[in-house]
Amino acid sequence: MPFLPVTVVGFARWLLALLCLVSLSAQAAIEVGTLPGELNLGPHVELLEDAGREYDIEQLTSRGDALAWQASRQEILNFSFSRSAWWVRLRVENASDTTVRRLLELAMPLHDYLDAYVVDAQGEVVGQWLTGNRRDFDSRPITHRTFVLPIRVPAGEARQVFLRLDTHDGLFDATPLYLMGDASFLAKAQRELMAFSLYFGALLALLIYNLLLYVATRERSLLLYVAYLGSFFVLMFTARGFAFQHWWPTLPTFNNQMVPINIGIFAFMLAIFSNSFLSLRQHMPRTARVLIAVAGLCLLSSLPALLGHYAPVFRLMIPAAIVLSCLLLGVAAWRSLEGDTLARIYLVAWSVLLIGVALYFLRVAGILPYNLVTEYAVQVGSGIEFLLLSLGLAWKINQFKNEKLAAERATLELQRSLNERLEAQVQQRTRELERANRRLTALARTDPLTGLLNRRQFHELVDQELQRRRRNGQPLLFAVMDIDDFKSYNDAYGHQAGDEVLLRVATLLQDHFRRAGDRLFRLGGEEFGLLLEVDTLQKGKQLLEGYREALQGLGISHRASRHGVITASFGLVACQGCAAVPDVQSLYHLADKAMYEAKASNRNRVVTCSLLSGD
Ligand code: GH3
Ligand code: MG
Ligand code: MG
Repeated sequence: MPFLPVTVVGFARWLLALLCLVSLSAQAAIEVGTLPGELNLGPHVELLEDAGREYDIEQLTSRGDALAWQASRQEILNFSFSRSAWWVRLRVENASDTTVRRLLELAMPLHDYLDAYVVDAQGEVVGQWLTGNRRDFDSRPITHRTFVLPIRVPAGEARQVFLRLDTHDGLFDATPLYLMGDASFLAKAQRELMAFSLYFGALLALLIYNLLLYVATRERSLLLYVAYLGSFFVLMFTARGFAFQHWWPTLPTFNNQMVPINIGIFAFMLAIFSNSFLSLRQHMPRTARVLIAVAGLCLLSSLPALLGHYAPVFRLMIPAAIVLSCLLLGVAAWRSLEGDTLARIYLVAWSVLLIGVALYFLRVAGILPYNLVTEYAVQVGSGIEFLLLSLGLAWKINQFKNEKLAAERATLELQRSLNERLEAQVQQRTRELERANRRLTALARTDPLTGLLNRRQFHELVDQELQRRRRNGQPLLFAVMDIDDFKSYNDAYGHQAGDEVLLRVATLLQDHFRRAGDRLFRLGGEEFGLLLEVDTLQKGKQLLEGYREALQGLGISHRASRHGVITASFGLVACQGCAAVPDVQSLYHLADKAMYEAKASNRNRVVTCSLLSGD
């Protein structure tokens, strides 16, 4: 009998060894009794595609390896667009002598449905959770933004963990799976929370600061920056699972709609902000329109999310977002090459973010190791991006201010020079006007042919003189001169020649009577008036005789005249106190009378009439 048991035990051992070999050929069990730090489960699990959604946990435990389980070859599980449900199997064993609790984390906050089962060696389900992003937040065994499941393994025992991963309508995201002890999780959660707090705090500070700046300056680009940053903040807060945990834990459907809607809004705000930041409407108006159109497409394609569609939304949005990103980068690169400083700042900001995204994806793809840099690269990149863009905005506003100041200064300068020119023109016109006025006044006073004072002036000036002399008792001497036989001169030589004679007579008058008080008038026709600045009749007569001889001496030939040349007759009147001369008219008559006497006496002579007291 001992044989049998020995044989049975031996056979059983052999069978077990064989089974172990089979399972080894699939995936070895993970020793969790002494688990150092955090273990990435990606390469340690087995996968089973459940395209018809036909399996449940009973079938899996009862049929075991008869099903088409396959070892995973992915560092991070990613089923991308897939309509199937996927089962994940994991074996753990505890070789230590105490029960251990290990935490299995599915580190993708947006994963839709996660059904988890822990099965003991007898195939009994000893732990079970139905959770996921499409179920209420309190379906999670541990309150955390990702899915953390506590798995107990008693000393010396093994457990199988089955995860059923399913989606709302066929879109999986990268699904990192980790196994760790409580202490590791606590350290990681604290580190993560600190990093995210710093990150979101920095974004919030930038947002509030720029909002206040906008309130103070009313600069439109600041408001666009705030909207762009705000949409990014909400998107990140939602995508990282914080919004569901803190803002709407009982609204899983709304939470899921918010992800694509926020991506659409973010893409749209990004395009509008970039448009304004790079002044594209001004520099590249057609590209600006294309940009807004693509962003509009992103926003539009997100709207079916409100009707419960998720995967189809991303099928549209991912290409649109790639086109938008390439367009933005291309535009920024082009503007940078053209020497636009703002475009350079924009390009650097974007490059920093892209480096962050690239590092993250390289880690997700298993090319780069998991570390602080690769884990938080996107956060660091986007934080630096927003900081650089904010600096760029400050630079832009400063540039605007300088341009405005320069324009104001130029306007002022222009205004000043215009004023100066206007003033100079006004002064010039005033001078011209004054000159014209003077000319007009002179013209109004003088006779156009001879330039002597006219008859009106004779009345005014002689009247003034009469009054003045009457007051101070000074003598006044006035003479009338008339050219002899002038009519016959005109008849003989023509009117034009007569005019020339009149001019020569007048010029000669001006040459002779040059003292300050002398006044010479053309009284009309060939008749002149002379107000002489002398105080005796004798001196006056002397002067007139001098002139008369000079005129005759000119020898202007006049055939019809009895003297053969142009001559003139003079009547000189002198008065003092002038009581007998009440007005200019009387004075003129007296002189005229004397002049006619001269005419009567063969002309070419001076006849005087004295009203002076001594004569
Ligand atoms: P008397 O010796 O008596 O003064 O003879 P008279 O011919 O000079 O005198 P009268 O008064 O008969 O003639 C004046 C002439 O003067 C008439 C007119 O032909 C001429 N006369 C008047 N004004 C002008 C003028 O502006 N230009 C010219 N060329 N002739 C004038
Ligand atoms: Mg006359
Ligand atoms: Mg005459």
